[in-house]
Amino acid sequence: MLYGKWRPRGFDEVVGQDHVVATLRNALITDQVAHAYLFSGPRGTGKTTTARILAKAVNCRERREGDPCNACRACEAINRGNALDLIEMDAASNRGIDDVRELRDKIAFAPSDLDRKVYLLDEVHMLTTGAFNALLKTLEEPPPHAIFILATTELHELPPTIVSRCQRFDFRRVSVEAMVERLGYIAGREGYAVPEEGLLAIAREARGALRDAITLLEQIAATYGPAPGTDDVLEGLGLVRDERTERLAGALAARDLGAALALAREVAADGLDIARFTRETIDTLRERLLAAARERAPEVETLTAAVAELAGADFRRDPGNPVPLEVACAAAVLGPARAVAPAAPAPAGERAQSGGEGRPRRPARPRRPAGGASGEDARSREQRFLDELYARCKMAQPTLAAWLNGSCEVLAMDGDELRLGFYHPIHMQKIDNDGRTLVEQKAGEMLERPVTLSVERIEKAAPARAPVRGGHLAKAARAMGAKPVESGDGPPPPPPERS
Ligand SMILES: [Zn+2]
Repeated sequence: MLYGKWRPRGFDEVVGQDHVVATLRNALITDQVAHAYLFSGPRGTGKTTTARILAKAVNCRERREGDPCNACRACEAINRGNALDLIEMDAASNRGIDDVRELRDKIAFAPSDLDRKVYLLDEVHMLTTGAFNALLKTLEEPPPHAIFILATTELHELPPTIVSRCQRFDFRRVSVEAMVERLGYIAGREGYAVPEEGLLAIAREARGALRDAITLLEQIAATYGPAPGTDDVLEGLGLVRDERTERLAGALAARDLGAALALAREVAADGLDIARFTRETIDTLRERLLAAARERAPEVETLTAAVAELAGADFRRDPGNPVPLEVACAAAVLGPARAVAPAAPAPAGERAQSGGEGRPRRPARPRRPAGGASGEDARSREQRFLDELYARCKMAQPTLAAWLNGSCEVLAMDGDELRLGFYHPIHMQKIDNDGRTLVEQKAGEMLERPVTLSVERIEKAAPARAPVRGGHLAKAARAMGAKPVESGDGPPPPPPERS
């Protein structure tokens, strides 16, 4: 696995968490290492990696400027994964009071091969209340040889009593720039030739999780060979962009609300993932904004409003519902005061544009027309099932679960078969080969019966879909009249991370 191979071994290699690294280094240099740390932040941002580096650093005999030497006996044992005194526990699967009591009983004993015993409790928010109470007692009176590192993706689920006993570090999503740099480094060392634009697409798709980005890079190289083109990367990521994102961005830039609403409805009618379509439109808008800002073009304000409104659209309750996108479009064009989401109706003229069928919050979705209301219920039931399945798989094996995210549909889930249709071969193969046990187990838990997974390729129903060829970033920028970047000239670009 590429991720394991390139896992940072020292603080200097940790990507995008400079604030954490600087503080830990300083504590090591001044000999002020705490007894309990809490690493919180999104998955794939380096919490476990940093915890292992810290475990090495506190035990290393040849530490330099806070960094472990990676050569002494302690460092080597931890790097090989066979140090007895680095105790890693996955709280997701050891969540009970007995697990914590067992840990507590052992903690009193002196370390066996290192100077300090380091307990790394991953996904610590999964512990039961009883287990938290047992852990709290230990955190209140830790033996001098013990260091606790608690890691969690869900800080808000931890009891405040636990949080207050720890020195807390918040890991951030890794910026796209930092990821591209690291991916480029790894690709170079592996002998891959991936265009910069391909690396950028991978970095964006990983949404701040470097681990996912490296896994995606590996998958793309495995599928398309060591020198994939940008089109290969986009295809592998399932990112061949819908050309309607360009049209929607154009309509918003031209403040043509009628055209924007018509596009939103058309996309919803095709049964596309509206949340994803909206994200892609935001990317397109940001590219236009970047070009417009460099040119000091007059539509900067319009584009900024459109990015802000679309980024605020909330699809969590119903990813297939186009209304948040429609409201965001209206707010972008009319200004937020005239399109208060979601209760206020759009002005009469626009309501006519959006169909005006009296139930504007739930427009019909002709893609699954069977049986009207019951057809819609069936779709949302399958969608809900898929959302829950993804959430459960993600809890158990986040990297594998990522291949389910927005990449497939439930084709059948009654009886003992779960049939999933995938849009892209990589996602399908990954779930079929590596994710089968996980999916069958989690689906079986949810349906309360044994389930056999079957997979097939399907096409996203999108009649107007066309692959974007030849570098959409550069093309979009050039279309706006952009010239090659000149350093230090013009206003700063918009923030790199998409929301
Ligand atoms: Zn060492």
